[in-house]
Amino acid sequence: MRVAIIGAGAGGLAAAYDLSRAGDEVVVFEAADQVGGLASGFKAEGWDWSVERFYHHWFATDRHILGLIDELGWRDRVRFPWPVTAVFDDGQFYPLDGPISRAIPGLPWLDELPGAGLISRGLWVFRFPGLSLADKLRYGWMGATLLMARSWMPFEGMTAHEWLQRHAGARAYRTLWEPLLVGKFGPHYRDVNMAWFWARVKARTPRLGTFEGGFQAFMDAFADRVRSQGVLVRLKTPVDQIRPSEDGGLDLAAPGGDIHVDQCLVTTSPALLAKLAPELPPDYLGRLLKLRSMGAVVLVLALNHRLSEAGYYWHNLPKAAGFPFLALVEHTNFLSPDLFGGEHIVYCGDYLDPDHEYFHLRQDELLDRFLPALPRFNRDFRPDWVRRSWLFRTPYAQPIPPVNHSRSIPDLRTPIRGLWLASMSQVYPWDRGTNFAVEVARQAARRMLSERMQA
Ligand SMILES: Cc1cc2nc3c(=O)[nH]c(=O)nc-3n(C[C@H](O)[C@H](O)[C@H](O)COP(=O)(O)OP(=O)(O)OC[C@H]3O[C@@H](n4cnc5c(N)ncnc54)[C@H](O)[C@@H]3O)c2cc1C
Repeated sequence: MRVAIIGAGAGGLAAAYDLSRAGDEVVVFEAADQVGGLASGFKAEGWDWSVERFYHHWFATDRHILGLIDELGWRDRVRFPWPVTAVFDDGQFYPLDGPISRAIPGLPWLDELPGAGLISRGLWVFRFPGLSLADKLRYGWMGATLLMARSWMPFEGMTAHEWLQRHAGARAYRTLWEPLLVGKFGPHYRDVNMAWFWARVKARTPRLGTFEGGFQAFMDAFADRVRSQGVLVRLKTPVDQIRPSEDGGLDLAAPGGDIHVDQCLVTTSPALLAKLAPELPPDYLGRLLKLRSMGAVVLVLALNHRLSEAGYYWHNLPKAAGFPFLALVEHTNFLSPDLFGGEHIVYCGDYLDPDHEYFHLRQDELLDRFLPALPRFNRDFRPDWVRRSWLFRTPYAQPIPPVNHSRSIPDLRTPIRGLWLASMSQVYPWDRGTNFAVEVARQAARRMLSERMQA
């Protein structure tokens, strides 16, 4: 069987790995000049490791990607440092979570349990001066309710905004949860359903992981492995169109000429699939186009000095406090600056609608907007700390799951015979990530193989 995969991100490579092992002749088309998709990275002069274009880490519970890494025999190349998240309240930053084992020594496995993120946050919340005892007790009750619930389904019919306000109380919601929702969904944060939030706290751990050399090192090694299994990875080759052919296969138009395949798996956004395959029936096309998502804009800075002297990795920023971006992530408070030639790497990131002005402003204009906020993280910050900077933007970064979203997710198998879709928008209720890109793409590959057996 000849199979095409569109996209050499985590999902596309995982499907290529499985299908080529099953004996298929696989060709992967990738528009960019490198593999890795949204999880790809870059290595500036003087760095030993690459830095992800968009901040990335794994959770200790990410069993699909970590399981794949086990299969590949590379588990010894995964590192799990202990970063700390901070919350901004009343003009200052407070640590909000970190290793549970730092609070309860001698039990390191606690940090790897599902729901450990919420428990860890609870331990720190109890010391947080910005909440009353009643708020803290409510946190405990709310956390227990979420962690004990075995299914996301009862939560799908209401928004996280409503549920959290009711269960956490107004003050705790405003301080702890609203910034998280706003940071992720911007103006759409009130639309997100509670099942997404349940899944998020259930799956997350305070222990965060990465691959030796950075995510790009993993993606490059993975691409080399699939190539060694006979897969052809064609970089800088964007597919322009997919049409059903008369013999029941598919014709793909791409630079260098059309190719004919028996099956094709698309791993791009659903909106792009709708453009590539306009012959999809109106009902399925309508489903693709109804899915909502946000883009992301991230400015990466290489500084002479550490920004957060307290060593915070992730800063959640409440919109009301007037920050020009919604998350500040100091990568070198997660990994040592020694890996980056002594430079301190900071991301200023925002999730936005793709028509937001940040998608059009030049890099120097964004620097002018963003740098004045940095003294709020370190009073001594001066613009001449910035040695160099990079700007990355993507229109498709974060799907928005509204109330009762499960009813609107398009099936992985499209109505065109042989054409499949495995995208971030079909990951649910879990928050999208490389872990779930691998899961959904491997699920598509399994179904593609079994479709043939039934034919
Ligand atoms: C700001 C941000 C932070 C994130 N943080 C994390 C994190 O901490 N941990 C984590 O695990 N995940 C994180 N993610 C999510 C993660 O990056 C994605 O879930 C995952 O990479 C998706 O993989 P994919 O293979 O499904 O799609 P993608 O990575 O989007 O791959 C699709 C590929 O298709 C290619 N393509 C597009 N059009 C065409 C065409 N016409 N022809 C050929 N190729 C085409 C693209 O170039 C791309 O390489 C983050 C994402 C963002 C944006």
